[in-house]
Amino acid sequence: MMKQFINAKIYTVDANCSVADCMVIEANKIIFIGKQHEFQSTDEIEIINCLGKCIYPGFIDPHCHFIDLGRTYFTAALHTTNSFDEVIEKVKSFQETNTREWLVGRGWNNNNWADKQLPTKEVLDILFPNTPVFLVRIDSHVALINQTAIDRSKVLQQSFIDEGFIEMKDGKATGIVYDKAMFYMLPFVQENDTVKKQIILKAQEICIAFGLTSVGDAFMEHPDFKLFQSMYEEDSLKIKLFGMFVPSKENKDFLSQNKGYKKGKFMINATKHFADGALGSRGAALLEPYTDDPLNKGLLLESDEYWNEEAQFCIDHNLQMITHCIGDAANERIIQLYKKYLKGKNERRWRIEHVQILPNYLLQEFSNNQIIPSVQSTHGTSDYTWAKDRLGDNRMKTAYRIKDLLEECGMIVNGSDFPIEKPNPLRGFYAGITRKDDNGQPAFGFDPSQKITRIEALKSMTIWAAYAQFQEKEIGSLEVHKHADFVISATDLLTCKEEDILHTSIDATYVDGELVFSRKPSLS
Ligand SMILES: [Zn+2]
Repeated sequence: MMKQFINAKIYTVDANCSVADCMVIEANKIIFIGKQHEFQSTDEIEIINCLGKCIYPGFIDPHCHFIDLGRTYFTAALHTTNSFDEVIEKVKSFQETNTREWLVGRGWNNNNWADKQLPTKEVLDILFPNTPVFLVRIDSHVALINQTAIDRSKVLQQSFIDEGFIEMKDGKATGIVYDKAMFYMLPFVQENDTVKKQIILKAQEICIAFGLTSVGDAFMEHPDFKLFQSMYEEDSLKIKLFGMFVPSKENKDFLSQNKGYKKGKFMINATKHFADGALGSRGAALLEPYTDDPLNKGLLLESDEYWNEEAQFCIDHNLQMITHCIGDAANERIIQLYKKYLKGKNERRWRIEHVQILPNYLLQEFSNNQIIPSVQSTHGTSDYTWAKDRLGDNRMKTAYRIKDLLEECGMIVNGSDFPIEKPNPLRGFYAGITRKDDNGQPAFGFDPSQKITRIEALKSMTIWAAYAQFQEKEIGSLEVHKHADFVISATDLLTCKEEDILHTSIDATYVDGELVFSRKPSLS
């Protein structure tokens, strides 16, 4: 049956950003949008009175880690800890409910501690002498493990760990492992499919309650792809998923045979790469040394051979190349690579994720080669207090410049990178327009020249995000023939007080015309 939503303020985000008061949907599509008196039908129709509430296109988080979000409920969540002692307390209390053999925690950030040193494993060895402990830092590039984890994973027996290492002091392991050395823990901490399904459903539950109807999963491995496929088949997964494939052999074999994948709500069209690490742990690759670590420039990942092979693979199979670049050296390297293969204006929509430090001379290359900047406005407002220590004042001027990128390219896509940041997409909206953190700091915004407008912020999480996923003809705006993915809320994001944005509550979320989340039992 058709459904007619009346008495609404509908932000269509169409080409004119027009506002409508009535929308009619049938099955999974929008069949009318405009003024209520303009719609006539003799068919049976269900009328939903929105009582003046606002309707927005379903929110899209174009860069996130979907399973990791659910996983934060199955692992000790350490994101809010302000000291290593607090980490220990959380891990101890998590152990009481933990049903897994390994004790896994995620999200600690030594930059938030008074003593900013990386921790060592001694306390873990005393408290957990028989339980392997694996505590992943917020950026997923560093972890702290205890002696039992070292013994079980046999990570010390590896004579050479490609692009990762285990830290040693006086011939002893400190418990800190970097990048690919962490892979030796994975066989022990990976979940079976039943657990993983629970994790995925938890992630979905959280996302749809924040109005997310589509998410871009920025690190999809083949077994997860298969699991997602089966969950779509059994219709337990309602949210739409755009997968960026890890360039593993299995994934690449699949892509070269199928030239991507699209079925219902699920699409794969890209491979995801890492050019460097994160700024917090000084893994971001910089052209000049870190201001607070003069012998260190971070680390560029992978070889020229790797990059050329991967770029050629994407060209050959008409795939989108998506690369994580934080530091200026990483951005420079990948922009040069993209330039070589894209050769100026093109329709390939290759993306750079984060684009955190970008000198002026690289800015124009984005528009010259139509590279899409995929940023997180919340990263700037989360990092600004310590990022200047890493970069110094001058380089700081080239960091987190989302307005400059928007003006250069005509668009940005804005994601959260959850669970690094919280999954509420309106935090990104708020940070984008205010350049403030959740506590309203700094008072005038961090580098206020980089504020974007409300409509730009909305587009960056709807129509522009859809474009970056090759889905702008289906989702991202509310127009006739498009999918009925939308969100209803009493808060008018385009006119409300800035402070109210973070407290916005979503009343209902629809995906393909189906009500998948409702805060109250009934709207009408
Ligand atoms: Zn990410």
